[in-house]
Amino acid sequence: MLRKNLRLLAIAFSEEDEKFLYSEITNIHVYKSINNLSDMRSAVWGSDWDVILFNHDKSFLDYCTVLNVLKESGKDIPFIIYSDVSDEDTVLSALYSGVHDYVHKGNAFYLIHAIEREIRNAGIRQTKAKADDQISYLAFHDVLTNLPNCSLFSDKASAMLSRLVESDAIAAMYLVDFDRLPYINSIYGSSVGDRLIQQFSQRLSAFSNENCLLTRIEGCKFAFINANVIDAESVQDFANRIIKLAISPVAIDNLVFYLRLNIGICVYPANGENIARLLANAESTLSNTRYLWKNTCTYYTKEIEVAAIKRSVLEISLRSAIEKNELLLHYQPIVDLQSGALSGVEALVRWNHPEFGLLLPEKFIPLAQEIGLIIDIGRWVLQQACRQAKLWHQTGYGSLSISVNISAIEFDQIELVNSISQVLAETGISSGLLELEISESTLMRDAETSTQILQALKDMNIKIAMDNFGTGYSSLRYLKHFSIDILKIDRSLTHDIIIDPDSSEIIAAIIAMAKNLDLSVLATGIETKEQFDFLHHLRCDRAQGFLFSKPMIAQDMLHLLTQRKTGTLA
Ligand code: C2E
Ligand code: MG
Repeated sequence: MLRKNLRLLAIAFSEEDEKFLYSEITNIHVYKSINNLSDMRSAVWGSDWDVILFNHDKSFLDYCTVLNVLKESGKDIPFIIYSDVSDEDTVLSALYSGVHDYVHKGNAFYLIHAIEREIRNAGIRQTKAKADDQISYLAFHDVLTNLPNCSLFSDKASAMLSRLVESDAIAAMYLVDFDRLPYINSIYGSSVGDRLIQQFSQRLSAFSNENCLLTRIEGCKFAFINANVIDAESVQDFANRIIKLAISPVAIDNLVFYLRLNIGICVYPANGENIARLLANAESTLSNTRYLWKNTCTYYTKEIEVAAIKRSVLEISLRSAIEKNELLLHYQPIVDLQSGALSGVEALVRWNHPEFGLLLPEKFIPLAQEIGLIIDIGRWVLQQACRQAKLWHQTGYGSLSISVNISAIEFDQIELVNSISQVLAETGISSGLLELEISESTLMRDAETSTQILQALKDMNIKIAMDNFGTGYSSLRYLKHFSIDILKIDRSLTHDIIIDPDSSEIIAAIIAMAKNLDLSVLATGIETKEQFDFLHHLRCDRAQGFLFSKPMIAQDMLHLLTQRKTGTLA
């Protein structure tokens, strides 16, 4: 059935052909008969047609000319020859040239079918072309901001730099990041975070032009390569202009956000001769400013370069650290404050680096998180810690709990639950003795996923501790929301409890609140007898710190456990 209101353009049709058309095709809405080239050209360019019929028997032009006009117009209109001549050679060469169909005159049934089919095919082609356009746009643009993505940015920026080589000019790479996105995502949801990124991107876009290219790297981190700069002063001027953008707050619905930026800057060609190097060096510079968040900019220096080289050496060696047996665990006792007994241990990973010696986690865990190795390291730690705990249990310390730190990336994987149940099955330790320590900021990042994973772990009877409590943004509401068993108060809070009345009041309030919520409290960083007495008095459940013991190797721990049989640690 032919579509209603068919828009049909007929070329070189005789009166007899037209009569035939009208008698057979009743739903023609617009019909135009053309008899010369310029009318044909303006008809194709000027109006939309569903189909073009061409009678080439006595035509003023050949079908190749019509096909060329169609090609030039960029329109995909079904083009059908309607002709008396239908020998095989003519038909085949027309079809090879791009004519969609060839219909012998007077065959109304075939003509109607050919029109129907070719309109349908053109529709399919157009939908596919749109999808292809969309796909190629998405391949080179950031969906959230519509900015060129890193790959397109790098191509354009490289072309820009190669133009600069001839003129000996400079350019500056600016990596711009602002601090509050994880917090905003966790408190207001990622849709608010996304809109913040969009608004910030619009502000930055005001500076982009042919010689100043902008892209979004990830989250709220953007990069500019600016070839409009000529000297140190103009490099700094541009940074100042970006910083000024942060002064006016961003409003989303009725929320108002104040931005705090950091900018890492490096200059072409002095600090890097290609885009990848400049981006990497700007990144090392930016990571040096990570804790400043003062609307400030930092320039790439030799020291940053040395640190970046050390980092890349670490990165390469970290990849083989597990298989080379370079990782080890230290264990720190956890003491029951009321009985003084050693109730458990926390496993803390170390890396025995062949060149740099024994490295503490702060030197390599952030790197492992960045390069994704934390999944393997986390699994190794869990396996080792559970195996070790099982040995202690078998030696007669059957109620000793084992605490393992879980980082944000591990916690994002639902796979974590399978991995833990495998380790439990393999080592045979009781799940009730395993305590997983998850930092406050990790739990708050994606409250919805956190709740699901926590529930799955709870169903396995594993204890969950919120680690580093007091360093993030937790509210009481969230503490209730997550099914947490233990609150681990960060040592930055316990540090001043004796000398600072505010700190002692905060700790007293936290312990009281935790009791109300039926949470067990573990205070960390206990270094003095005074801190111990204070916490004991507040009926804090457990404690950990250098007062009792520093982290130690498994053998020393066994020694301590043996000693404990004749006394307590406290
Ligand atoms: P954390 O979970 O808060 O671990 C406690 C850290 O505090 C340990 O540092 C420990 O040595 C230190 N500490 C304990 N008592 C005291 C004290 O009385 N005074 C002082 N000044 N410090 C004390 P460490 O071993 O350097 O670990 C640092 C962080 O590295 C850990 O903090 C944890 O977040 C992370 N980490 C350690 N092992 C692992 C691991 O296997 N996986 C993951 N994902 N993270 C780990
Ligand atoms: Mg911990």
